[in-house]
Amino acid sequence: MKLVHKEVPVEFLTALPEGIKYVQKKGKDFLVIEQLYCRDGHSLMADHVRLHGEPSVCLDAKIGSHRGRIFVDAFWGSHDKLYSFIPTEIDLHSFTEAYCPHCGISLMTERLCTYGGCGCTQAIVLNLPGGVNKIMVCARLGCPDHELIIQQVPEEVTRKLRKINYFGEIQDDMFRGI
Ligand SMILES: [Zn+2]
Ligand SMILES: [Zn+2]
Repeated sequence: MKLVHKEVPVEFLTALPEGIKYVQKKGKDFLVIEQLYCRDGHSLMADHVRLHGEPSVCLDAKIGSHRGRIFVDAFWGSHDKLYSFIPTEIDLHSFTEAYCPHCGISLMTERLCTYGGCGCTQAIVLNLPGGVNKIMVCARLGCPDHELIIQQVPEEVTRKLRKINYFGEIQDDMFRGI
């Protein structure tokens, strides 16, 4: 599938929350998650597993009948993932239950997903540094809904950010030679 590039709102770039950085690749704007924590303050970033050259977000995940590690692309809006297990076709139509890979605490919360009639009532909560700002990701596999909850940024800006999605692979040639 083709990469559909969405512009990052300028209002957001001037007030980037801690834990999110802005990178330009081939003249295009991308937001990259730099740091996330579980509720108990353990880092969820995996330096040793890099996706598109950046540390990935590591979660202990239960999907259908499998449990193992998943590594999620830190590029905002990308849905690339690596699994330490092989999800079956049935698993890929189910939900993710995520836990901290260090202490095992649940990262789930109740939240109704309103994206295109998804209706999922569970989300994964990832805390940005400072303990106030967070990212909510719909727990239904394949649902692209991801939301930034940030105190000092107006809601219309976070609404625009929510619409940034890269379906399919981020084109690798965008990341070459940088
Ligand atoms: Zn933890
Ligand atoms: Zn959803």
